[in-house]
Amino acid sequence: MKIIMLGAPGAGKGTQAIMIAEKYGIPHVSTGDIFRANIKNGTELGKEAKKYMDQGLLVPDELTVRILLDRVGQEDCRNGYVLDGFPRTIPQAEVLDQELGKLGDAIDVAIDVDVPDESIIKRMSGRRACLSCGATYHVEHVPPKKEGICDHCGQPLVLREDDKPETVRNRLKVYHDQTQPLIDYYDAKGILKVVDGTQEMNQVFEAIMKILEK
Ligand code: ADP
Ligand code: ADP
Ligand code: ZN
Repeated sequence: MKIIMLGAPGAGKGTQAIMIAEKYGIPHVSTGDIFRANIKNGTELGKEAKKYMDQGLLVPDELTVRILLDRVGQEDCRNGYVLDGFPRTIPQAEVLDQELGKLGDAIDVAIDVDVPDESIIKRMSGRRACLSCGATYHVEHVPPKKEGICDHCGQPLVLREDDKPETVRNRLKVYHDQTQPLIDYYDAKGILKVVDGTQEMNQVFEAIMKILEK
């Protein structure tokens, strides 16, 4: 099964993608996590990506597509994956479709986790991230068992550089301009499903399970 998670920054895509990946035993592929891992390791790719990420801008399509295709071409992605944060532009979606098409393959479903902008700003200030395994928490809504420590891997949690309110506002603008058109793109292909992302995270997950188990 090949699944795309759509939604604004902070809508809960990553949270749900991790649960889906666990349930179906498929990899969770997050371009944001790949970029952050590269920044942490000081690679050239990381240096390039950081220039854009710190301003809340998108990393150029060419670079992003190359990284993503490389990742989904790996052995563990053969039976499917859940894409979180990719595609974010129409050209990215088109390249993905073309590349899958060459293999006689296609995306099965695009799930839009719908959350209004007002709720997003609040969520982001409370978000804490694990840069080691990609898990995210929220100081009020999704606290880790031990304060400041990742439940999954025991590493310290951080407030992401780009989760400051000014940058979040930029990211929301970029989302509406460049990423939201993907909702119509996948709707036109007949594979769009929308879930109400303002619900409690387990309820969102149940709504997603209903969609995937149809
Ligand atoms: P969020 O989880 O808040 O939606 P991500 O971790 O997905 O954020 O992305 C963080 C940043 O990484 C983005 O603001 C952007 O700069 C960059 N990025 C991630 N995925 C992509 C992509 N598909 N295209 C371009 N830039 C991306
Ligand atoms: P995205 O990957 O779309 O940027 P995340 O999954 O990182 O979003 O979630 C953003 C923030 O909101 C995190 O702090 C996360 O713990 C929290 N969160 C996720 N789902 C919910 C929910 N259903 N209700 C409240 N907070 C949530
Ligand atoms: Zn972790």
